[in-house]
Amino acid sequence: MFKELFPYECAGSVFEIDYRKLYKKGIRGIIFDIDNTLVHHGDDSTPEIDRLFRDIHDAGLKTLLLTNNDEERVERFIKNIDTLYICDAEKPQPEGYRKALKKLKLKKSQAVCVGDQIFTDILGANRAGIPSILVKYIMLPGETKIGKRRYAEKLILWYYRHTRYAHRLGDIIMRGGSSNAVE
Ligand SMILES: [Mg+2]
Repeated sequence: MFKELFPYECAGSVFEIDYRKLYKKGIRGIIFDIDNTLVHHGDDSTPEIDRLFRDIHDAGLKTLLLTNNDEERVERFIKNIDTLYICDAEKPQPEGYRKALKKLKLKKSQAVCVGDQIFTDILGANRAGIPSILVKYIMLPGETKIGKRRYAEKLILWYYRHTRYAHRLGDIIMRGGSSNAVE
């Protein structure tokens, strides 16, 4: 039950993922969601995110931004980032993910999707057969209200943690493990 909604791993943020370990496991490309995964919804990139992309590229991995948002949003985001992208991706439909693999010139087993939403990012990745990492969605300081979908996600994650589907990528989380990374 819920298998299509289960990520391979959970992380507190994109900074907790050990991209070099992913490389050692044969991963050659990371497909990122943007909004609430890399920055708060609609925000420009930050120097930390720009640096993260440079580090990932230095580790030998390609990157692709896969977003349901439009081109204007992506163009604004990638001012200092050299990356492939696909906008208007219609996640969780699997077509965008397949196009992403084509652009990256990778097989589905060589890529990992990273996103903050189970019902779009993770569901789509599973439909396309690509491993995925769910990160804790970015909230602004003082922001407390979450939508109904987020409550459903919490329930699914509680169930997920008790299954054999957790930690399917092995030990790829930095800073003290992942078991409490996404609440
Ligand atoms: Mg998102």
